[in-house]
Formats: sequence, structure tokens, C-alpha cells
Amino acid sequence: MNSEIKPLIAGNWKMNGLTEDLSQIRSLALSLRNDPAHRCEVLICPPVTLLAQTTQICLSGAVVSGAQNCHIAQKGAHTGDIGASMLADAGAQYIIVGHSERRADHGETDGLVNAKARAALGAHVTPIICVGETHAERLGALAMTVVEKQLNGSVPALEIFDKRVIAKNLVIAYEPVWAIGTGLVPELDDIKTMHAAIRDWLVERFGEEGEGVRILYGGSMKPSNATDILATANVNGGLIGGASLNAEDFLQIIRSACD
Ligand code: PEP
Repeated sequence: MNSEIKPLIAGNWKMNGLTEDLSQIRSLALSLRNDPAHRCEVLICPPVTLLAQTTQICLSGAVVSGAQNCHIAQKGAHTGDIGASMLADAGAQYIIVGHSERRADHGETDGLVNAKARAALGAHVTPIICVGETHAERLGALAMTVVEKQLNGSVPALEIFDKRVIAKNLVIAYEPVWAIGTGLVPELDDIKTMHAAIRDWLVERFGEEGEGVRILYGGSMKPSNATDILATANVNGGLIGGASLNAEDFLQIIRSACD
């Protein structure tokens, strides 16, 4: 990992978690309070129903809270939707946008993801923009092309950041769709190659500032593979689904990056 970049270890709870499951977040926050992971930042993105409570639990500062999606508008007549400023009001410091499950389940396009990222920035929340190829695309040697197209369409233009520090206001998550929730993980060389290509793209788009943007890897990261993945060049943290639901597993992943 680039030692100048503070890694971000982010848990995506997806549509999982009831009030009783906050005990996992309490346990995580307590462990990190007693033995802080100074070298990385830890984020939990629970379902929105648990966001405000998660924020309260995380007030110690050892963990921050975030959201999994937002609407493109901050407020208005959009029944059932939630605006980025409302998520910020509930304590979200990050919002995941363009997760492959949202792209697949809700037909989210790159243009929509871009608008959601802009909405997050408008609420002073950092978007985590997800990109990644399907298995068929990887087999067809199209992974790079697909990811580059997603970056071109989903990442807001430089002007949108309005002189803000890009590295603090943008996170990219490379998540091969075929690795999410499947137990399958790309070869480390393939992760390295893709993350290097994303870094090149960021530098081309944002100049030197692109060097500091965190690029997370996501897709079946577990305690057993986290150390190797997180030691790969240009991997500046992880976006973790299943293994973030259990405090013990998540903590082991955090320690892989931070100890
Ligand atoms: C995810 O949902 O972003 C993810 C990476 O899931 P999992 O870790 O379960 O593969």
C-alpha cells in the first residue's frame, strides 16, 4: 500500500442488520477505542435504518459511518428516497454510489452514478464510486475497457470539486462483479494491473492530486486473503460486504491493513 495514503477499510452491510446487530458495531468501536487502528480509517455503511444509531455509537472517533446510496436531489417529492444532505444530517461521512448491485437491480447508469456522486459532494459527503467488470467481460478481455468507460461516465469532472482537495473528496472502489459475494477473488497480479490503470486514469483526470485518491478493492475480501490484497500496489483499502457483518472478521481485516 502507498504509505502516504491513509487506507480506508469500509464495511458495506447492504440490506442486512436489525437493531440487535448494532452490537457488532459496538464491539468493533470498543475494540478500536481500546487499541486504535491509527494507520487507517474505518467506515461502516449500515442500512439507512441504522445510520443515526451507528453514528452515535461511532462518536468515539475510532469508526465513522456512511450510507450505501442517495438520490440525485437533496430533497423534494421523491417518495421513499433519501437525499445526501439527509444522510449527512444522520452522520454519514461517505456515500457509496454505483455499487454493482444498484447498477444491476435498479438499472443505474454511469450518468446517474455521476449525478449521485455530485449530490454527495453537494452535501459535503465523500462519494465512494464503484466500478468493476462482469465475469463475461473479464473472460472477453474487456475488463479494462469497461472500467475505463465507467470511470469516464461516473466520476464528476474536476470543476465539480470546486477547489476542494480531490484526495479527501473522492474514493474509487474497484469491485469485479463476479467476485462480490462469491468467494472468488482475482489473481493479485490482475488486481495490481487494474489498480495501476485506475491510478493512471485518476492522474490523467486530476493531475498530481489523482495520486492521493484512495482506490479500494472489493469482492470476497476476508481475513484469510486481506493481508495479501491490501499489500498490493495501489490498493488503498477495501470495501467489504459479508465479512464486515461480523466484528471479529472485520477487525481482523482492519488489523491486516493497519498493524
Ligand atoms: C460489496 O458488497 O461491496 C462486497 C465487496 O461484498 P463481499 O465482500 O461480500 O464480496
